[in-house]
Amino acid sequence: MTFRQGGSLDTSGVSGGGRGGRGGRRGMAVGGGVGGLAIVLVALFLGVDPGQLGLQSGDNGGPQSDSAQEFQAHIDQCDLEQANTDTVCRIVATTESLEDVWTTQLPDQAGMRWVQPHTTIFTGDVDTACGAASSDIGPFYCPADQDVYLDPAFFDQVLVDRLGGSPAGAAQMYVVAHEFGHHLQTMLGDIRRSQQDPQGPSSGAVRVELQADCYAGLWAHYATSTPAPGGGEPLLESLTRSDVDAIIQTAEAIGDDHIQKSGGARVDPDSWTHGSSEMRRQWFLTGYEQGSMQACDTFGARL
Ligand SMILES: [Zn+2]
Repeated sequence: MTFRQGGSLDTSGVSGGGRGGRGGRRGMAVGGGVGGLAIVLVALFLGVDPGQLGLQSGDNGGPQSDSAQEFQAHIDQCDLEQANTDTVCRIVATTESLEDVWTTQLPDQAGMRWVQPHTTIFTGDVDTACGAASSDIGPFYCPADQDVYLDPAFFDQVLVDRLGGSPAGAAQMYVVAHEFGHHLQTMLGDIRRSQQDPQGPSSGAVRVELQADCYAGLWAHYATSTPAPGGGEPLLESLTRSDVDAIIQTAEAIGDDHIQKSGGARVDPDSWTHGSSEMRRQWFLTGYEQGSMQACDTFGARL
């Protein structure tokens, strides 16, 4: 997936974060929540066990950390051209492409206005309205502050080296688009189904994750044809077969069965939270090929 040459980026929706950053948004305790459900973040891979993750209220209100300031400076100087070679700038540009697509598609397909989530690029530990979290859990979305949290080091260190995902930029963009899918589910009220039925091959959690993959596919379907605001050229000028292959390789790499196998564990569908490699591949492709939110109804589908 290639961004067009030239052009600036609106970086205002993305900030550098990390322990102590963005003072006022420090963690409230986990437990309160929308509709009486605990507010739990939705991580990209593996089941989220709040105990294991040390999800507790951050109490470390120091000055903005060095990494947060460095990320912020990096983000501020991103332009569209750099988004083709630089991971941080690619994340920023992808959030803008997602905004363009969903601002058009959500009113068209669901009669709702899109509200862009915030995105935080961080490393190490970060305080969120879902509690404190660390990079170890991979990219995640917190419904309580409607913020997507990404550590750029995750892509090489975990996704590629440990799990065998693709190093291509398209793979990183798919991950960002998947997290934005969770934001859409929060807007639509579907995200809670994940917590109501958290495990198993046809659980609510798996259906929520597969739907986020499908929404990522939907974004890819429209990404190269949706004009920039004001009728400008689309931010993305190409999406090739090898981009789609890179995304599929990555979707398969983060399938629960593959993660279990690569960790030396036995494949245990009853513990699945995100779906198998085959399911993730299939639902990304459903969104990509059909471009329809209705086609992404994983809750009504037989799994
Ligand atoms: Zn997810």
